[in-house]
Parts: sequence; C-alpha cells; structure tokens
Amino acid sequence: TYPTYGRIDGPIVMIGFGSIGRGTLPLIERHFDYDADKLVVIEPDDGVHTFLSQRKIRHIAEKVTRENYRDLLGDLFKDGKGFCVNLSVDTSSLDIMKYCRELGVLYIDTVVEPWEGFYFETQNNAERTNYALRQRVRDEAAANPGGPTAVSCCGANPGMVSWFVKEALLTLAQDTGKDVTTPETRAGWATLMQSLGVKGVHIAERDTQARRTPRPRGTFVNTWSVEGFIAEGFQPAELGWGTHETWMPENAHSYDSGCQAAIWFERPGAITRVHTWCPTPGPQFGFLVTHNEAVSISDYYTVGDAANPDYRPTCHYAYHPSDDAVLSLHEMFGSGVTQTRHHIMEPDEISEGIDELGVLLYGHEKNALWYGSRLSNAEAVELAPYQNATGLQVSSAVLAGMVWALENPEAGIVETDEMDHARCLEVQRPYLGPVEAHYTDWTPLQNRWELFPEDIDESDPWLFRNVLAS
Ligand code: NAD
Repeated sequence: TYPTYGRIDGPIVMIGFGSIGRGTLPLIERHFDYDADKLVVIEPDDGVHTFLSQRKIRHIAEKVTRENYRDLLGDLFKDGKGFCVNLSVDTSSLDIMKYCRELGVLYIDTVVEPWEGFYFETQNNAERTNYALRQRVRDEAAANPGGPTAVSCCGANPGMVSWFVKEALLTLAQDTGKDVTTPETRAGWATLMQSLGVKGVHIAERDTQARRTPRPRGTFVNTWSVEGFIAEGFQPAELGWGTHETWMPENAHSYDSGCQAAIWFERPGAITRVHTWCPTPGPQFGFLVTHNEAVSISDYYTVGDAANPDYRPTCHYAYHPSDDAVLSLHEMFGSGVTQTRHHIMEPDEISEGIDELGVLLYGHEKNALWYGSRLSNAEAVELAPYQNATGLQVSSAVLAGMVWALENPEAGIVETDEMDHARCLEVQRPYLGPVEAHYTDWTPLQNRWELFPEDIDESDPWLFRNVLAS
C-alpha cells in the first residue's frame, strides 16, 4: 500500500509526456486522490496516444505555444482549480506559471524553460544564461508575492539537491560536534553554512547506467531528455561565485543587477571540465553544465548584501553523464553537427549502473562531504514503472513538490531551497535507493598529472582555479 498525500480537486494537466512525464504519471496515480477523468496530457508526439488511451487518459496532441497557451489552459482550468504539471521542453515556465496563478491553479515544473527557439536563436550569450532565465522568475515572485503556489525547478537537480544541501549541513554540524537546531529561515540556513566553514558545493553526479548495445555513431544517447541536455550543454558555463574565490577566468562575466550570485563564461558548459568527486569513481572529471541550482543555492546561502556579501558559497554542477552521453557530446561538439537521432535509455535495456547524484560540500573542517542518492536502475524498476534511475530521482521530486504545494497552496512562486526540505525528502526518500553521506580527504589538488605545469593556486585547494580543468 502506498500513502495518499491528499486530494487534487479539478483537472491535473500534464504538459509534455517524455521520459519524465511518463515516470511521473504512475506516482500521481499512486499517491493522490483525484477524478481520473480529469487527468489530461498535452503532448504533441502522437506516439504516446495508444499508451494514454489504453489507460483512458485524455490526450491533447498539440504543442503548447506562446500563441495558444492561454486558450488551451484557460479552457481546461475554467473552474479555477486543479494542478498544472509542466514537464515539457520549449514551453515558457514563467508565462505558464503566471497564467496558472491568475487562474487560481497550482503549478510545478523542473526547469525554467523558455519558449521554443530561445536556446539557439538568442544571439546574446548573457541572455542565454540560467541566471537571466531564473532572475525573471525571481522578479515576478518579488513583484507578486503570495497567492497560488507555483513551484519552480523541482526535479532532481534543480530540486532535490537543494534538500540534500540542508540534510548535508545538519549532518556536518552533528559530525563536527556543533549543537545546532534546524534553522527556520533563509538567513538561519545561510549563517549555518557560513559557520560550518563550507566554501562551496558541487552538485556531483556520476551516471554509470549502460546498455549492452554499443552507441551507434550519429545517435545522441542519454538517460533523460536529449533535447534538454543539448540545450543546456550549449548554454554558457555558469556557476554561483563564492566569497572565498581570489581569481576569475579571463572569459568570465559577472553581473551588476539581480541577485549577483553567479558568473558565466564565454564557453559552452558541456565542454568545460572540472575536477570533482563522487563515491563510486572517487576523483573524476565533470562538466560545468549550467543549472538553475548553481545560482539559486549560491543566492540562498548568501550572508549580507547581494553586491558585496560577507559570505557566499561557490556552487556548480559537476556532471559526469552516462558514458554513452559523454561520447555523444564528444561527437556533437567535435563534428559541429547535432545528431538527428536521439535515444533515451529505457529501463529494460539498461544492463547495469546507478545514477549517483549528490552534493559535495567542501572546504570545511572535515574537508568534503558528499551526500546523495545512489539509485541503481535495477532498484528503480522495482520501485516504479516506466523510468530508469535518473527518471525516478526526478519524478519522485516532482511528487514531493506536488505534495508540498497541496499542503502549502498559497505560498506564491517558490524555489526548492525555500521549501520544507524534511517534508519533501520524507515523501521522496522511498524512491531514492541508498541515500548516503560520505566524507573524503580528496581535494582538487590531488590526483593531478604532474608532468605538465598547471595554472593552480596551492594556497587553498578548494579555489575554483584548481577545480577548473585546464
Ligand atoms: P523529453 O525530451 O523526454 O520529453 C519532452 C517532451 O515534451 C517530449 O515528449 C516533447 O514532444 C514534448 N514537447 C515538446 N514541445 C512541446 C510543447 N510545445 N508543448 C508540449 N509538449 C512539448 O524530456 P524529459 O526527459 O521528459 O524532460 C522534461 C523536462 O524536464 C525538460 O525540460 C528537462 O530539461 C527537464 N528535466 C529536469 C530535470 C531536473 O532534475 N530538474 C531532470 C530531467 C529533466
């Protein structure tokens, strides 16, 4: 038996039915009470029609666009209640969440997504950053506080990892003998991180899921949205920029408006490598792919003034995707051509591997702590249908975010840093496999190839200068 977390009155409208939509559906069915005839999926790909009609789920085979979203959603939500679950690419999170709030409807997404065309047609790199995308959502939240809850960026990362940061801080406090009560405010959390001496956070992920079939040349293979990964991989590398940093790469830009917590580089994230660490491989390269949480976590844990803070952690994604995805990136950037054949690994074709996704809090008295989920695909298929380990880490975060929104329906626009992490993890944890804390004495200055001089600064191993691979 599975717990029912509450009743959703009115329609549940899922936008997009790709790998995450398919994985989220069974969790909604399992954990909410709702009128089954009010569940609607808007998905332009006709290939999903049979699957949905066999389950008597209404399918609208259309793209949601800038031109039609108000008519489409206004009609479906005409009674002013329900839940919009946006799991598609190419739909503006901001426009849709604003309209849902106008209609009185709850909303959740897993990324600040723009309308179709934005990622590759926008010429100005500063505008293509997640900083710019997120700041618009933050500005809207500040301009119109409160009202119907819209949860922004509630997947695995961005999303769950923000809850892991808080768990990791409490773990670190306990393990270093600090007498700490769980903070109840943003300022309290930021001060806790500062007092523990945390210099920064890697969102440190190693995906070892693999198939028996070798990757065919010319096919981009990934464990989640290929389209989503290509889009973010081509965005500029970007990271939250901490107060302990003493150096900036020459191609870096900072901001003088908004939260000012991040910097970005004139270089795509998916070919920018960093030194990082995960429990299974130990030291490894990750890609500095831009992610919303890199900015949101640095912003949330800032102590003092935005422009001149007393304390701010560095924060960035350090992603080693599945080996097939690494080869796919290599082929795409090397050839200058985006593969036209895309493939997301199905749970039943994956022969081995785990998605090890956690947060590496570094620079403190115990050096570094990785805290995260080490979910295998083999365990994921036992826990819930239609998804691999990566998918379940995301869909279970969507479930947790929906539960939190139902329990906090008038919270306005929120990010996962601002939600009750304990409640969200309580809902999500049954789907995460082993959730573990690992300390390591590894630093970015270890395991280097010493025959070639590098541009490093040995005065502090945890400077970004040492993390960035040359
Ligand atoms: P996917 O590529 O498998 O599926 C996306 C679906 O959206 C496709 O079925 C596509 O046909 C549909 N779609 C495209 N344009 C649309 C439109 N205009 N209107 C409605 N549907 C449209 O992607 P996925 O793996 O399911 O990921 C979905 C979203 O979740 C992506 O934006 C991705 O970046 C995000 N995501 C977030 C996390 C996280 O941890 N935060 C993790 C994975 C994916």
